Amino acid sequence: MCIFCKIANKEIPSKVVFEDEHVIAFHDVNPQAPTHVLVIPKRHIAGIAQAAPEDEAVLGRLLLAARQVAEKTGIAEGGFRTVVNSGANAGQTVFHLHVHVIGGRPMAWPPG
Ligand code: 5GP
Ligand code: ZN
Repeated sequence: MCIFCKIANKEIPSKVVFEDEHVIAFHDVNPQAPTHVLVIPKRHIAGIAQAAPEDEAVLGRLLLAARQVAEKTGIAEGGFRTVVNSGANAGQTVFHLHVHVIGGRPMAWPPG
């Protein structure tokens, strides 16, 4: 079982921010900003590159959960970034789909 499946199953502890039947959001262990939360589907999907038509509902739910996270952590008003890294060039290191929700400081564009 992958590390994020273990987090979703509560086999590995995490600081949970938001949870419903299909998704769970928890603080990144190595935060890149004052707020850095990961939103994942509870069911294992490796990444956007592997997502299938039947994943449509859970993909939508991930972004609505990101909104909940932004509101709960107080970054909604100031602005926040949602990032999904896919594959080697993007720097994906954990192959269980996750949406980074990052905020609490200004961010540059484009990413390096
Ligand atoms: P990626 O580079 O795949 O887009 O992002 C993976 C993220 O998962 C990284 O920001 C990393 O800090 C985070 N991460 C890796 N292992 C763990 C863990 O065991 N717990 C938590 N909370 N975050 C993790
Ligand atoms: Zn997994």
